Amino acid sequence: MEAIEKRHEPGHPSPNLRDYDDACARFSWAAARALMAQLPGGGLNICFEAVDRHVPLLGEHVALRCLTRQGTRRELTYRELAAQTSRFADVLARLGVAKGARVFGLMGRIPELYVAALGTLKRGAVFCPLFSAFGPEPLFSRLSIGDGAVLVTTPSLYRKKVAGLRERLPALQHVLLVRETPGEELPPGTLELEALLRAASPDRPVEPTRPEDPALLHFTSGTTGKPKGALHCHRAVVQHHVTGALALDFHPADVFWCTADPGWVTGTSYGIISPLTHGLTVLVDENEFDGERWYRQLEEERVTVWYTAPTAVRMLMRLGDELPRRFDLSRLRFIASVGEPLNPEAVQWSVRALPHAIHDNWWQTETGGIMIANFRAMPIKPGSMGKPLPGIRAGVVEKQANGEYAQVPTGAVGELALRPGWPAMFATYLHEEERYRRCFASDWYLTGDLARVDADGYFWFVGRGDDVIKSSGHLIGPFEVESVLLEHPAVAEAGVIGKPDPVAGELVKAFVSLKPGFAEGEALRAELLAHARKRLGAVVAPKELAIVASLPRTRSGKIMRRLLKARELGLPEGDLSTLEAP
Ligand code: AMP
Repeated sequence: MEAIEKRHEPGHPSPNLRDYDDACARFSWAAARALMAQLPGGGLNICFEAVDRHVPLLGEHVALRCLTRQGTRRELTYRELAAQTSRFADVLARLGVAKGARVFGLMGRIPELYVAALGTLKRGAVFCPLFSAFGPEPLFSRLSIGDGAVLVTTPSLYRKKVAGLRERLPALQHVLLVRETPGEELPPGTLELEALLRAASPDRPVEPTRPEDPALLHFTSGTTGKPKGALHCHRAVVQHHVTGALALDFHPADVFWCTADPGWVTGTSYGIISPLTHGLTVLVDENEFDGERWYRQLEEERVTVWYTAPTAVRMLMRLGDELPRRFDLSRLRFIASVGEPLNPEAVQWSVRALPHAIHDNWWQTETGGIMIANFRAMPIKPGSMGKPLPGIRAGVVEKQANGEYAQVPTGAVGELALRPGWPAMFATYLHEEERYRRCFASDWYLTGDLARVDADGYFWFVGRGDDVIKSSGHLIGPFEVESVLLEHPAVAEAGVIGKPDPVAGELVKAFVSLKPGFAEGEALRAELLAHARKRLGAVVAPKELAIVASLPRTRSGKIMRRLLKARELGLPEGDLSTLEAP
């Protein structure tokens, strides 16, 4: 497929990064750090960089424009956001929440979520977003691993998902609720956030955090074991800012819409922090996907930069080429996407139908910010993730006979690796220092992804090196799903795989064998699916489930997910030498 060359469009500002090689040669992280306002004495605080620093010049500019489920809009200027986040920081201080304590947020995309996230950072505490569609089990594991001291949520989410877990969460001292209807009675053991905010000081200053102080906790999934809590520091804001300029091409007065939920890392790094550090107006949409409404919103809200995900793009593609032409998208200047492979057809569709190329970029929870990107001034090779950000060294590596990792020749497939030391790099997996150390070898950070790099230096995603599943952009650990299935009295063994799906990328498929005395049948299959959905929530639960006589295991007893997948897809079964029984 031919590379797509882009011409400068009159009326639009020229790209921030005009010449890739020149930008790489001139880039330094020290210079990037100097773009931050910083606190006296070399301190750094994400909330200060995102909000307070703008108040003198941009105080009346809209920071957040929230479109609610009721069809109304709520706007917060930078001055209002500074006051509200100070109040939130003051609430935490008055409740005795110490610097470094962990504050969890479990809400839809409502203004209070943004106030809580930034206010927590202003207090010097650590914010951990939770996805509101999670069921009780994923919520429990994350709150307990993270020793959550405070949870900010709504009465309905609390009643449905958290109240029943409270006894098992001894570290959880305060639950702050955002009322959904005025006058509604609150459950026992909770406090009303609005009343606390009213009584708090709007002038509480920013906690003088250091660049290395922890700021954000983002959970991610591995092949085995419990979710991993990747801890990020205030220094990450340097990269959030720089990538906003170079990879998303932010310019002053942009209206930016990131469709990711702040329950995931993209929705925090780019749905909150990065655009605010540039003083932009951030569009926040509480509603779920609706193609026609999305196009209308791009037009009516005059969105100039749009960051979305391949699953959403594929859903838009299904609605056809004609629909977007009914809307005036001429203000839109730049579109980017992340989270899963963006098929070459999707890039070509976007050029034809939107008509703007979608710029794929790559990063992951652990990297904290964009690492590889298709920059605005660079030709796009459809299907490629682009080139490393200036300041980032990426390689494709392979383990050698001596145990060291070395780069493979151009074009060969290996593991995608990064030279450690970028500002948004995670500082540890909470309570799992050994698991963290295992991510590093021969001076590389190993990403777990397989990739190749071509002769022009473009990186191409090949697949995951492990069994984690990417479904509609959400990373799902098979172990978490298998554990919940095994809780059901009928289930003897469970194995979970990602099955390719034309829209979601992959969907979660489970295989289970039954304990003696349980009979296979449609009723039991439906019951198992319902059990998983209730415990895990709709995004994580399997969409398909097959009851089988037994599951393939290695001699050491591990379920061979690889083999389950090969059999499901009718692919060669590969090396079976470790299979327990033929
Ligand atoms: P998460 O930590 O949930 O953000 O997921 C990160 C993973 O998503 C990466 O390790 C990749 O497997 C996948 N991913 C992210 N961006 C891309 C992309 N542009 N192309 C292909 N896969 C991607």
